[in-house]
Amino acid sequence: MEKSGWIIYHDGEISDQIKEKEIIGEIDQKLLRLDELKSMWLSYSEKKQLVLYIDGLGWHQLKASLPQCPYFSTFNTACALSSWPPITNTALASMLSGADASVHQIKSHADRSLKLSTIFDEYPGRCVYIEGERTILYTQQSALLNPRDEKDSDQAVLSCMRENLDYDFIFVHIHGYDDVCHHYSPQSRQAIDKLIWLDGQLSQLLSDVKGMIWLISDHGQHANGDKGEHGSFCEADMLVPIGLRVNENE
Ligand SMILES: [Zn+2]
Ligand SMILES: [Zn+2]
Repeated sequence: MEKSGWIIYHDGEISDQIKEKEIIGEIDQKLLRLDELKSMWLSYSEKKQLVLYIDGLGWHQLKASLPQCPYFSTFNTACALSSWPPITNTALASMLSGADASVHQIKSHADRSLKLSTIFDEYPGRCVYIEGERTILYTQQSALLNPRDEKDSDQAVLSCMRENLDYDFIFVHIHGYDDVCHHYSPQSRQAIDKLIWLDGQLSQLLSDVKGMIWLISDHGQHANGDKGEHGSFCEADMLVPIGLRVNENE
């Protein structure tokens, strides 16, 4: 196999350098990367944009569930590459800063202070970032809203999204699917049902929204017994969807 044109993982870092004996994995480098999202969002800033960030939704998980998710099926979706490591903090930092982990230095769950300028600093319109009950990363400019609801955080996040649809750039982090995948495994009935529920809720809540709606994720999950986990160099964790749907008549 031709090695150039592939991303190589060696010595704890992803790079395109080739050191044969340290190679433990390779993934097609021509895939979109999460750190490319920021420049894409900036290039469409004359439009209203809503980003639906569903935590833990790998490419293969979405593909397997699409026949039961009519709303997500309307998105034009491509396979993209997560960050290394494929964990929430690192991937979120890559999306928001447009840099990879060698630059933003968010490499573990303990790293929470993002020092680089983010999409919220640079976007020319009004931004809102709707997060669950717990803040993942601290950024320079706070566009953050944390709805608090002990019972069902996704419901609270979706209600908060609905109340803030007048912003120009709306970034919504939906956590519950990742939690269900950890608990029951990504191929479980419970995980599929959670995605079907989200599909129905979003379809209803966003039926009258004009502009560009993005469907993205930070990483996937692989099964470990009857649980799910992520953070490994494998397709299940590393491949994520980047989807786009344009609602016209602005
Ligand atoms: Zn995550
Ligand atoms: Zn997780």
